[in-house]
Amino acid sequence: HNNNNASRGAFIVMEGVDRCGKTTQCGLLLDQLRSDNIPAVAMRFPDRTTAIGAMINQYLTGGTDLDDRAIHLLFTCNGRAIVLGMVQQSDVGLPAPDAVIFLDLSQEEAQQRGGYGEERYETKDLQIRVRQRFQKLQQLDTQVPWHVVSAAQSIEEVQADISKIVEKTMAQAKHKKLGKLWQ
Ligand code: ADP
Repeated sequence: HNNNNASRGAFIVMEGVDRCGKTTQCGLLLDQLRSDNIPAVAMRFPDRTTAIGAMINQYLTGGTDLDDRAIHLLFTCNGRAIVLGMVQQSDVGLPAPDAVIFLDLSQEEAQQRGGYGEERYETKDLQIRVRQRFQKLQQLDTQVPWHVVSAAQSIEEVQADISKIVEKTMAQAKHKKLGKLWQ
């Protein structure tokens, strides 16, 4: 929006290792926002509904084999399609989130959750490395505030923590320009 006085919504990213509760919490948050009459949309990455997403899904669920570079490119294409299509900005450059909510869960705790181990990346060593990378990424990211929430709490407790962060983020984002990632 070009009008400087116009307020905008907030762009919030939910992150964390497989099975930490991203799907559960995004669903609950969406329900809560909508019942408060706050319009909200959820985007999922990877988006398994696109043609490229279907290829990623086949890879993740073990149906096809691809080398690491090929799958990386597919993930990149899948993300760009979402960003360009949904945010509809002509600039190429990813919009920076107003906040990242990191649902932190140890590998041991994740392993006890339903469905763990069904997908290709859900192996012990890889998930431990993913968690470490997230911690590094958080230190590198000086622009976007990261909020670490313990995902080992009950669903209701996690939801309450997220709710507070989202409320604050929305209030702060209202009159701020949307930033660009790594710029
Ligand atoms: P993700 O989207 O991060 O992979 P999900 O939301 O699909 O995670 O949750 C994975 C599994 O863990 C599901 O079976 C879900 O019901 C369960 N789960 C989610 N949050 C919690 C929680 N706080 N405590 C216990 N189990 C949970």
